[in-house]
Amino acid sequence: MLLQLDRFGLRCEAGGFYIDPSKAVDRALITHAHADHARSGCRQYLCASSGAGLLRQRLGRNAPIESLDYRRSRTINGVLVSFHPAGHVLGSSQIRIEYRGEVWVVSGDYKLEADPTCAGFEVVPCHTFVSECTFGLPVYRWPNSETVSRQINEWWRQNRREGRHSFLYGYSLGKAQRLLAGLDPDIGPIYVHPAVSDLMPYYRDEGIRLPEVTRVSKDLLRLERHGAMLVLPPAASGSKYVRDVGPISSAFASGWNLIRGAKRRGQMGRGFVVSDHADWPGLTKAIHGTGAERVFLTHGNTRPLARWLGEKGIEAQSLDVLSRPSSV
Ligand SMILES: [Zn+2]
Repeated sequence: MLLQLDRFGLRCEAGGFYIDPSKAVDRALITHAHADHARSGCRQYLCASSGAGLLRQRLGRNAPIESLDYRRSRTINGVLVSFHPAGHVLGSSQIRIEYRGEVWVVSGDYKLEADPTCAGFEVVPCHTFVSECTFGLPVYRWPNSETVSRQINEWWRQNRREGRHSFLYGYSLGKAQRLLAGLDPDIGPIYVHPAVSDLMPYYRDEGIRLPEVTRVSKDLLRLERHGAMLVLPPAASGSKYVRDVGPISSAFASGWNLIRGAKRRGQMGRGFVVSDHADWPGLTKAIHGTGAERVFLTHGNTRPLARWLGEKGIEAQSLDVLSRPSSV
């Protein structure tokens, strides 16, 4: 097998590198800058150029990061490596590796919906596709993203008419910027939590157009009398920004809202269905598109999708099988 799983993560023995290793290794190829894919301590990192700023922000100013433009290739110990848009967040990549005529693609996290804050998912033909499977059940079908943006803006307008601030919760890397891109700045002032504000320059550097925002402070929000918008990460739901700033209405943007009720959202209030991962139709379309004859699935419950693909004649298993000695 061109890739195997060991205690450090997904390893390419021929190339002498890991993809999104879970621990520090000599050479790491990184699909994107989310914490569960980009760990610190590696001696060398390689990522897509458009994601290098965010990766540096995650790993520190002096992290040894090299980058490659999308679709440009580099040979590492005889293995041809290239990065291709995954449509998940800014700079997110699928990683294509080719060795002795065999092509594998590791998807990282991905989605097929259009997102103005990152390059769109690109189908990369391969023999073996390693696909994420976070929402690998037929029940997951995302609503149209423009419709959801309209709903969010209408919710904000209504809150403003009633003199309440709108607190919109979404993860600070990717989700928050996608939410911002869908907001109508004519409705009112938009504030962002510092965790979101800190990432905005990397989006500007990559030419991503986002509305004008102000880094929030409690005093600033108190001065707003007619209902401002504040975009903030879920972890800030108990923070000072949420308390004593006058009447507020809250909402949480997540794919899980499709099945999770208000009780799970707690003080994050209303739920809008916005996900940066592929839904069931997206997963099946992407996998078919690659033409792969073999698929390894990771994240979430992989069995239903593996069974469904098996019925279509595509050999599909959980990525975990690559850690068994028999697969080496
Ligand atoms: Zn991610």
